[in-house]
Amino acid sequence: MKTLVFKAWKDPVLSKVIASGLLLVCGSFGAWFLGLWPEIYELLLTVLELVVYEVQIPLWLIVVSVPLLIFIVPLIRLLIPEQEPRFLKYRSDNILGIDWSWGWSSPNFHNDKYSIRDLHPRCPNCKSSLELNDYSGQLVHCINDSCNWQWQQQGSFNNRISHSSELNQKVWNVIDRKIHNGEFKT
Ligand SMILES: [Zn+2]
Repeated sequence: MKTLVFKAWKDPVLSKVIASGLLLVCGSFGAWFLGLWPEIYELLLTVLELVVYEVQIPLWLIVVSVPLLIFIVPLIRLLIPEQEPRFLKYRSDNILGIDWSWGWSSPNFHNDKYSIRDLHPRCPNCKSSLELNDYSGQLVHCINDSCNWQWQQQGSFNNRISHSSELNQKVWNVIDRKIHNGEFKT
């Protein structure tokens, strides 16, 4: 490339073409620049004025905004998501002889911790949903009529679970324990 340009420069005809081309480019750039100069000058003046402009802030604004900033900073920190805890992948388990699945609700305004939502029981035999009925005498039964699975309660007679709310609470407790002692499997 370099030798080609050099050769072209030595060539009397080509050198004139290149020289006039360069002049044309520089000349038009200069004309453009000079033509725009008043505008550029104006712009520079405006920027300078902005830089030296004195802003008057009323005292009450400072008095109000300082506590507001102090309040807002922790709030922003709350809103920035932290790295997700590993237990959020723990969404199913066999607890008290029942297959449970659930989701997690993120911490929010009402609750500063992750909480279990949509806790759902399934039959370990056929994977159908289980029905919890407080009044049928049998708390848990499989909705699949052709499934002969029956819930076998563990523990002594005194510890028998007779209400769905009690069952849910116990499952909750087991999940809570497992995420805190690291026993859970994802
Ligand atoms: Zn079943």
